[in-house]
Amino acid sequence: GLAVSLQDLTVSYGGRGGRSALDGITLHIEPGERVALVGPSGAGKSTLLGLCNGTVAPTSGQVQVLGTDPTRASSRGLRALRSRIGSVHQHLNLVGPLRVVHNVNAGHLGNWGRWRALRSLIRPLQVAEAGEALDRVGIADHLHQRTDRLSGGEQQRVALARVLVQDPDLVLADEPVSSLDPARADEVMGLLCGVLSQDRPRRTLLVSLHDFDLAVRHCDRVVGLRQGRVVLDLPAAEVDAQA
Ligand code: ADP
Ligand code: ADP
Repeated sequence: GLAVSLQDLTVSYGGRGGRSALDGITLHIEPGERVALVGPSGAGKSTLLGLCNGTVAPTSGQVQVLGTDPTRASSRGLRALRSRIGSVHQHLNLVGPLRVVHNVNAGHLGNWGRWRALRSLIRPLQVAEAGEALDRVGIADHLHQRTDRLSGGEQQRVALARVLVQDPDLVLADEPVSSLDPARADEVMGLLCGVLSQDRPRRTLLVSLHDFDLAVRHCDRVVGLRQGRVVLDLPAAEVDAQA
């Protein structure tokens, strides 16, 4: 089956009358595809990613993600779906004062209380697993450092290592490199699209970006969004040839 299937999707935050954040989107993504979602601010990228993890409800149309319809799933079904989805954000969702190892092992858990509880539960095996993941993103020697002592690019690598440990089938990355300078952004995108997909070839990546060149360089397929509509959907190789 498809990793992501959106059929005639519309999202209007103001309800049916309001201006649509997404307007009749149809998009099918195969397992293993690395898809860049490119468009200016306000185009609907975050809304589309939110549909995929069930945090945004469609006004009309159909969503299937990893074989589940998040709009119809039970709370248990939604939890199961989310455990198979890894997230990377521009704002990293890392807990600065914690050591890198704890952030890597924290998976997609939420608030401070859970982070603190988790910290006391870390086992040697998990430390080894975190170390291995950090090695693959090139910062193995930072395992025991405080996370907020690392540079922005290093912290983004910690977020990638956390996804490796979670081992999800689908990765949703919302503007993962927009806070980095161009050279760091290119490196982190290389790791995101390289390591996360080599690790498991059928893992699907959906990455929102506002930088078209980064999308073409690192992804297999480029989907352009503008004012809630798909205005471009091409293999990256063909985009390159046209440019
Ligand atoms: P970005 O351009 O980085 O995607 P936005 O400014 O679009 O950031 O969105 C930041 C946050 O504000 C998001 O959580 C989004 O859902 C919310 N948001 C954006 N536009 C509106 C709006 N018109 N009304 C309410 N919330 C909004
Ligand atoms: P992008 O991620 O491409 O910047 P968004 O999906 O954040 O785009 O936003 C698409 C449109 O939806 C924008 O017009 C934005 O202002 C609006 N929007 C986003 N989130 C909300 C929200 N929570 N409430 C109302 N409007 C929103």
